[in-house]
Amino acid sequence: MSDLISVLYISRATFEPLPSAKGIEPHVGQILRASRTNNGELNIGGVLFYGDGYFFQCLEGEESAVRQLMEVIKQDERHQDVKIIVERPISERYFGNWSMKYTSINHAVKEFLRKQGFNKFNPYKFTNDHFKGLIRTLREVNDMHVTADSDASASQSEPALSTQARGAVKQPGNRPTAPKKLHRNSYTRAFAISGAIVGLAVLAMFLV
Ligand code: FAD
Repeated sequence: MSDLISVLYISRATFEPLPSAKGIEPHVGQILRASRTNNGELNIGGVLFYGDGYFFQCLEGEESAVRQLMEVIKQDERHQDVKIIVERPISERYFGNWSMKYTSINHAVKEFLRKQGFNKFNPYKFTNDHFKGLIRTLREVNDMHVTADSDASASQSEPALSTQARGAVKQPGNRPTAPKKLHRNSYTRAFAISGAIVGLAVLAMFLV
């Protein structure tokens, strides 16, 4: 059996946040897409949280794979001051099959911060108990879905990023997919067909 470990770290984002049409900051969306692709292949899971210019990430997986990924992440110029909070062996994954669950500041996290006496997310001020509470909160909250074809620029001009509903199907490779939505065009088409049927019926009545 492989040696599973969990690594928790925090860091400061180096980028100025850009506006996000659907809740995921474009730089973070890019990080998340790379994470979900790579982590699925490496059998690494966990959670990524971004809020108020700070990152918090938990990585879970086989020891050597997680350590190697941590070395790559530490070099990433999109953040700095990487501080490892905990690195420990685990017997099972806390975040199950997620290749990288993601959430930003939402109601549950705001409520958690408020209860701890924080009005902003600054993990450098957290104690161990705060981290434990945050991890529990993040396990409970919904994931935010980022589509494969969206990029930082696209997400500013069109709604490429969407929030994923709880309980959506997890595909092989651990990448969750958003539930199917009935497109507005489908309603328009159905309405036009019904109209045509009624019109033909009226015409038939006149002809008979
Ligand atoms: P690429 O396809 O090479 O990169 C994806 C996109 O990101 C490209 O558009 C590229 O221009 C851009 N990019 C890549 N590296 C950088 C960089 N250093 N600075 C600016 N832009 C860059 N990667 C994971 O695989 N799994 C994770 O869980 C993970 N978590 C991360 C958490 C944080 C907080 C940060 C900041 C980064 C994280 N990364 C993660 C990204 C990681 O640092 C590497 O960028 C990534 O692993 C490179 O993978 P790739 O070669 O497949 O991506």
